[in-house]
Amino acid sequence: MPIGGNKQPAGVSELDEAIVTSSLSGREWDVSGSSSRMLHSRVLTDYSAAGFAKIAALEGGNSLEYCFGCGKCVPVCPVDLVSEYGPRKIHRAVQTGFDLFKSDELWKCTTCGNCLRVCPKEVNMIEVMPAVREVAMVEGTIPDELQQVMEKTFRYGNALGENPRRRHAWTKGAGVEVRVLANDPSPVDVLFYVEDYWSYHPRGQQAAQAFARIMSSLNVDFAILGAEEKTLGDSQRLAGEKGLFESLMEEVVDVLAKYQFNRIVTPDPHGFNALKKIYPKYGHTFEAFHYSQLLAPLLDQIDFAGSLDATVTFHDPCYLGRHNGEYEAPRKIIEAIPGVKLLEMGRCRENSYCCGGGGGGMWLDGFNSNQLSERLSERRVREAAATGADILAVACPYEVSRFEDAAKSTGNEGLRVMDIAEMVDIAMRGEDWRS
Ligand code: SF4
Ligand code: SF4
Repeated sequence: MPIGGNKQPAGVSELDEAIVTSSLSGREWDVSGSSSRMLHSRVLTDYSAAGFAKIAALEGGNSLEYCFGCGKCVPVCPVDLVSEYGPRKIHRAVQTGFDLFKSDELWKCTTCGNCLRVCPKEVNMIEVMPAVREVAMVEGTIPDELQQVMEKTFRYGNALGENPRRRHAWTKGAGVEVRVLANDPSPVDVLFYVEDYWSYHPRGQQAAQAFARIMSSLNVDFAILGAEEKTLGDSQRLAGEKGLFESLMEEVVDVLAKYQFNRIVTPDPHGFNALKKIYPKYGHTFEAFHYSQLLAPLLDQIDFAGSLDATVTFHDPCYLGRHNGEYEAPRKIIEAIPGVKLLEMGRCRENSYCCGGGGGGMWLDGFNSNQLSERLSERRVREAAATGADILAVACPYEVSRFEDAAKSTGNEGLRVMDIAEMVDIAMRGEDWRS
């Protein structure tokens, strides 16, 4: 049964004439006919509380039942724009007997948080979906591609299944010295937590090298963990693998305890979210920053040798913006680069669209492909291209590869996708981004 269900109320009553008058302004609205249905009390004869009881019994699962069907969440849900989705539709489906635990629909939510932002009842899909997914994992109804990522993470400490000893291979191309703490364990100011996609993905490695050069030019005292680094695992947690997240966290905390540092800086908004909001719930507190937050206060110390000469639009990462309230730092960086004009997309900041990578979506493009009219990253790239910008700037390691693929598949090859660190680095070195 599709989300939304096949059932309709047994009877529908409409008033031929219905005028609603505002007690404040005296203004009148004519809601006669179909618009008047909500003026009558409606008895839901097909309601079952059984589905909600099963979900509400899970830690974090109880809020789905709070929904009173106002519908505010549906138009802001990025998945609904390419499918039939949103908490209201899921709520109604569960009400009419839909088994979310065994459904493919369970894996579509990216935990982007836009529904929670507008929901008057605080229905929290960022807690509901991981709770239900955790049960689905135990019952073995998990998509194969996601299962493989969990196994790679468990085995190698990274979602890509790469050799942990190659964690710092990217440093060879940085052109500056990058200290690995295992080789030199003396105290350091900034622990640069590189995370998976900047460590291993070729495009991520380029951004990591750019960021290392920037920090070096700013005389930031920084070092990395190298082979001792493991993913912080927040997307695995949100995809339902709380146990894996917890065991990774204990290993990470043990490694961090070996070294003295003042703050942790990571390019990954998902890892940043784990350090800032989830680790403290387990008693592990660190001074954690997104790399944009480290760079933004240092901009006046950057000596730009050249100008970018480009129009740029910026995609707010869900886990930097909506989840952690940081909208300004990346924009300050972009606007400080000489020769840049920033063009905002219609959906930006709090209402930014989602790239589709959050909550495990990064690893579910294949699984979701025949259920969505297009990938979320494709829709977002089309929005970015519509601004007329030369460059789509990103500040999350998931996004460069997602958006580059989407630019190709939507015929927007002319739109260049670049990490903000790459943009700063190019202007700092006086290079031409087009070459
Ligand atoms: S915004 Fe909240 S209360 Fe309104 S329909 Fe959506 S989940 Fe239900
Ligand atoms: S968290 Fe995002 S993707 Fe999930 S239901 Fe809410 S708006 Fe849709």
